[in-house]
Amino acid sequence: MARTHRARRFRRNARRVDGSRVRRFTVYGIIFGLGIFVALATTLDLPTLDSATDRPADLVTAPNPYVDPPSDRATSPEGEDAASVELEPAVAPAADPEPTIEERHITVRRGDTLMKVLRRTGAEHDEAHTAITALKTVFDPRRLMAGQKLTASFRRSESSDSKSKKTGELMSVMVKLDVERSVAANRAEDGFEATEVVRSFKPAFVRGIGRIDDSLFVSARRAGVPAQIIMYLIRMFSWDVDFQREIRRGDRFEILFETFRDSDGRPVKNGDILFASLSLSGADLRLYRFATSDGVVDYYDPKGQSARKALMKTPVDGARLSSRYGKRRHPILGYNMMHRGIDFAAPRGTPIMAAGDGVVERASRYGAYGKYVRIRHNNTYKTAYAHLKSYAKGVRGGKRVRQGQIIGYVGSTGRSTGPHLHYEIHRNGKQINPLRLKLPTGRKLKGREFARFLEEKASIDVALSETPALSRLAQADTGAE
Ligand SMILES: [Zn+2]
Repeated sequence: MARTHRARRFRRNARRVDGSRVRRFTVYGIIFGLGIFVALATTLDLPTLDSATDRPADLVTAPNPYVDPPSDRATSPEGEDAASVELEPAVAPAADPEPTIEERHITVRRGDTLMKVLRRTGAEHDEAHTAITALKTVFDPRRLMAGQKLTASFRRSESSDSKSKKTGELMSVMVKLDVERSVAANRAEDGFEATEVVRSFKPAFVRGIGRIDDSLFVSARRAGVPAQIIMYLIRMFSWDVDFQREIRRGDRFEILFETFRDSDGRPVKNGDILFASLSLSGADLRLYRFATSDGVVDYYDPKGQSARKALMKTPVDGARLSSRYGKRRHPILGYNMMHRGIDFAAPRGTPIMAAGDGVVERASRYGAYGKYVRIRHNNTYKTAYAHLKSYAKGVRGGKRVRQGQIIGYVGSTGRSTGPHLHYEIHRNGKQINPLRLKLPTGRKLKGREFARFLEEKASIDVALSETPALSRLAQADTGAE
C-alpha cells in the first residue's frame, strides 16, 4: 500500500534529524533540487491535517520502523524518499512521542520587517536572525510587502529537553513573493540554506466573444473577460473609437488573450491580448499584436497599419461626451459664446490621460479653466485639459509625458457646473474641433517586417479558430485584476 509506505517514510525522515541532520537535509536538498517546493510545503503541513480518518490502521499498530534503522536504510533508496515524502498526511498530532513538524502561516502586515513577522510566528531571535541572513542571499528583505504570505515550520518534540522551547526549533521559512516566486531558508548542517523557487505556468489561449448590449465593459464582463483585459482592450481601440458615440446596441466584440495556469489548470494570471475586434454598425476593426524587430509591441490592422495615432480622441475612459465644440449658450454666463473644446462628463477623480507624447507646458490654475494642464506634442499640436480636481504626481511644467500616461483627475475647478473634463486640441496655436481632427496615422509595416507580421497574423488566426469561446461558466478571472 503506497500510502502506508509513504507515511512511514516521512516519520523515518523526521526521526533521522536526531541521529543525522546531514542525512535528513540531503533528502531535503534533493526535494528542492527537484523543485518540488509546493510539495515540501504540503509535507510540512502534515500535523495540521486531520488525518485520523484516512490514516492507515497499521500505522498505529505496526512496529515502529525507527527501532531498526539499518533495515530501514536497506529498503529505502533516497530517491524514492524524496519523491514519496511529498503528498501524504502521515503523523497523528496527538499522543505521538515523536518530533512533529508544526507549520505556521502568517500574512505580512504593513510596516513589517522579516524579523517582526518571524518573531510573530514564535521563532527565537537568534534562529530568526540566522534564517534571515540566509534568505538575504536570494531576497532583499526590503522587498517584503504587506499581503505576502510567510510560512515558518518548527520541529517540536514532546520529550523533556525541548519543553524549554515553546514553539520548537525553527526548521524553515518560506516567503511567497507572488504567484510565481517563493524564497525559502531551510535548516541545514550548519545554519540555514536559502533557495529560490520560480514556478512556471502553462500559457493557454482564451477567447471571449459577445454582443454589446450596454457598454463594452459590462458586456465583456458578462462574457467572462477579466476587467483588467477589458481596460486594455478599450485602450487599444481608443485611437479609433469614440466609445460614447460609436458603440451601439448589437455591436460585437471578439478577443483572444493568454492566461497562465498552474499545474491544476487554475488560471493564475493574465497574459497579452493577441487579437481583438470590434464590429461597429457593420464596420470591422481588427487588431493583431505584433512586435517589430526593434522590440516595440503594438497592435496593427490586417494591412499592417498601427492602431496608434498621434493623438487620442478621448483622453478619459468611461466618460460621456456632454458638450460639443461650437456656439452654445454658456451654462453659467447665460449668453451665447463659442465652446472651443469638448466636454466629457465623468465622475470626480476619473483619471485623465495625456492624449499623446509630449512636454507639459503648463500645469497650474488658469482663470476660468481652473486647474489646467497643457501639453505640447510637436510644432503643430497641443492639447489642453481643464477643471481638474488635481494633477497626477510629477506632472508639472517641463516634464515629458507619454501617451496614455495619467496626468490628472476629473474635477470641477474654475468656471464649471459639475465634474467634467474640458478638452481642447490646438493646431498652430488655435483651438480646433477635436472630433473633426483627421488624426495623423501611426506606423505602417513594410517589406520584411510586413511579411513577418502576416506570418504572425496567420498563426493568431489559427489560434482564434481553434480556441472555443469563453462562456460565463468558464470565467477566466484570476483574481489578479
Ligand atoms: Zn468645456
